Amino acid sequence: MADTQKTLTCPACGKLMEKVFIPSEGINLDICTEGCGGIYFDNREFKEFDEQNEDISKILEKLEGKTFVKVDETQTRHCPNCGGIMVKNHSSIKQEIQMDDCYNCGGKFLDNAELVKIREEYDSNTERDADILRHVYKQVGCELAEQERRYSEIDQTKYSYVRKLFGLLTGL
Ligand SMILES: [Zn+2]
Ligand SMILES: [Zn+2]
Repeated sequence: MADTQKTLTCPACGKLMEKVFIPSEGINLDICTEGCGGIYFDNREFKEFDEQNEDISKILEKLEGKTFVKVDETQTRHCPNCGGIMVKNHSSIKQEIQMDDCYNCGGKFLDNAELVKIREEYDSNTERDADILRHVYKQVGCELAEQERRYSEIDQTKYSYVRKLFGLLTGL
């Protein structure tokens, strides 16, 4: 079980990662805001949170106008949560997107380079955001039917946070 309070070190570039809780999605993300822009998913399931969480807009401000350092996405990664060796897996949206999976604790790491690949696949931002979000749902272990249900019920006001977050991470 991941300790969601622990500050993690980016498995790709070694910088400290920033915690981001996305209330509208009920998911925790650790984002490498000072380094490569990679994302670590530290929970496998959606959870109900009733506490007031950190305002995601502060994180978004930090990502504004940022250029992320390039990393070698083919290197073997060690899980920032448990130290286990991560395994590269492909999970398809529109094309093959590579994730690093930790089979020990269930953590997953998505390279910024992979996010940029997702961006380049789409003509429309709306279409792209929808697929990125579906991808995130999938990574945190959400069943397909549940992914679709959540997607259809997204409050557009809250969704704009997610949209902005991924937009900034993919350099849009
Ligand atoms: Zn990094
Ligand atoms: Zn792990």
